[in-house]
Order: sequence, then structure tokens, then C-alpha cells
Amino acid sequence: MYAFAYQKPATVAEAVKLLSADPEAKALAGGMTYIPVLKQRLARPSAVVDLSGLGLAGIGVSGGVVTIGAMTTHAAVAASAEVRRAIPALAALAGGIGDNEVRHRGTIGGSLANDDPTADYPAAVLALGATLRTDRRTIAADGYFQGMFTTALEPGEIITAVAFPVPEKAGYAKFPNPASRYAMVGVFVARGPQGVRVAVTGAGQGGVFRHTAMEKALEKSWSADALAGVATPAEGLNADLHGSAEYRAHLVGVMARRALAAAG
Ligand SMILES: Cc1cc2nc3c(=O)[nH]c(=O)nc-3n(C[C@H](O)[C@H](O)[C@H](O)COP(=O)(O)OP(=O)(O)OC[C@H]3O[C@@H](n4cnc5c(N)ncnc54)[C@H](O)[C@@H]3O)c2cc1C
Repeated sequence: MYAFAYQKPATVAEAVKLLSADPEAKALAGGMTYIPVLKQRLARPSAVVDLSGLGLAGIGVSGGVVTIGAMTTHAAVAASAEVRRAIPALAALAGGIGDNEVRHRGTIGGSLANDDPTADYPAAVLALGATLRTDRRTIAADGYFQGMFTTALEPGEIITAVAFPVPEKAGYAKFPNPASRYAMVGVFVARGPQGVRVAVTGAGQGGVFRHTAMEKALEKSWSADALAGVATPAEGLNADLHGSAEYRAHLVGVMARRALAAAG
């Protein structure tokens, strides 16, 4: 690691002030992605601003919306009785992220700010039509994800919470990378206040995307049969050591049917 100053503000306003005063300063949440980057000397921040003192962890359900504080760990989301009751698919997704150590440190805010193209949470945020709250605005899911590792966040902007409308039905299925458990392909299906939405993570070269052909088919009939005739083009999908684009296209169909079965 290169040397950097460590700051631990007590309020969001203070954190924003530190980050906007110095464009080389960087926020730190659970550190599960950022600390390995620092250790490999892939980043050289002048300062690291620790977000753990801002009181941004916690889960609440009201008015048909599940609100999760940005500093809430994956393990807390997975274990939450409220999330398990309101959106069991979201609790199950969080329970499948990485391993125990990663789940007890990594946070929903860190995952969404990082926007890894193989991360799990982006599929839930997009399929459930969630809203991201930051220190300065709210951002709808459809306008948030802008390519791999690229989001609508401005420099120094802090995610404070994520609000998920409770769906009528939702399910998630992931084909994990055997080593890291990141999604080679993950599909989240939901039927809720915004209609039927299907989001695919892990497969797209541009990160998470909505599968509109599957959405149309499931709008007509919420059944595995409805998906039978829906193809996923291999063009634009990732191809690597773990699988070809054609193989991922095939997996999208398999995971979508499994997610639908999980949704009931
Ligand atoms: C071995 C391993 C396996 C993993 N497997 C999976 C997996 O299966 N699925 C999966 O989805 N993820 C997986 N992850 C990633 C994990 O979910 C991380 O927790 C997540 O990517 C980053 O969250 P964090 O809280 O650790 O953030 P950090 O590493 O602290 O930060 C990540 C980035 O986000 C920024 N940031 C953090 N919080 C905020 C905020 N509130 N507002 C604005 N910017 C912010 C930081 O500046 C940094 O750039 C894995 C990680 C490891 C190490």
C-alpha cells in the first residue's frame, strides 16, 4: 500500500466535505473490494474516509418499502427477519455473496458504488426497481447503472440508503464462479408495482441489464413455459476462461427459470 491519511467523520455532511475538498480522497466502507485494490497498489488515494461512523447501517420496512442503510453488511441483510418476510429473494441473494468473512464486512452501499459487472445486488436493484438515496438526491435504478464499474454517482457522492418496493413475487438464481462465487450469470425476476422486471448480472459486457424479451413474455404469462421460446443473444455477453458467450446465453435461460421457480 502507498501511504494515505485516515479520516473517520461522524456525520454524512462532514464526510462529504472531506471527499469534495480533496478529489484524491476515497470513501471506505467494508473494504472488501477497496482494501485489496490498495494492497495491490492499484490506487493511491491521498486520504481514506471511513464511513463506518456515520450511522448508515440498519433495515426498516414501511409503506410497502424495504429501506436498507448503505453500511448494512451482506450478512445482516441475509439474516434480517424483516427482509426475509418482505423480500425473501433479496435475503437469499445477500446470503449467497462471497463467503462468511466477506458477508460480515462487505456492505450494500460498497457493492453498488463499485458496480462490479458480476456482483449480485445490481440485479436485485434493477429488477425490483429500487431507488438509491445519496447525500444529495435520489436515483432510480434505471438511471443508476451506466456500464461496468460505472454508475451515475458524482465524485465524492455518498450512497446513504437503498429503498426496495416490496414485490408481489420475486426470485433470484445465480450460477456462481467456482472460486469467488461472483455471478457468472445471475437472474432476478420480479412482479411488482412497476410490472414485471427481469435483470441479468454477470453475463453482460456492460454490466447488469434488463432482459426486456423475458419481461414481455412473463407479462403475458408468469410461467416457465412463457420463457421457453425466449432466446438470449450471445452477442454482447462475456466470454472468458469460465465460459463462452454462448454458454452464458444458455445459462441466462436456465437461471431465469430457476429464479421463476424460486419466486413461485
Ligand atoms: C473473496 C471475495 C468474494 C466476493 N464475492 C462476491 C459475490 O459473490 N457477489 C458479490 O456481489 N460481491 C462479492 N464480493 C464483493 C463484496 O460484495 C464487497 O463487499 C463489495 O464489492 C464492496 O463492498 P464494501 O463494503 O466492502 O466496499 P469497499 O471495498 O469499502 O468500497 C468499494 C468501493 O465503493 C466506494 N464506496 C463504498 N461505500 C460507498 C458509499 N456508501 N457511497 C459511495 N461510495 C462508496 C469506495 O470508495 C470504493 O470505491 C466479493 C469480495 C471478495 C473479497
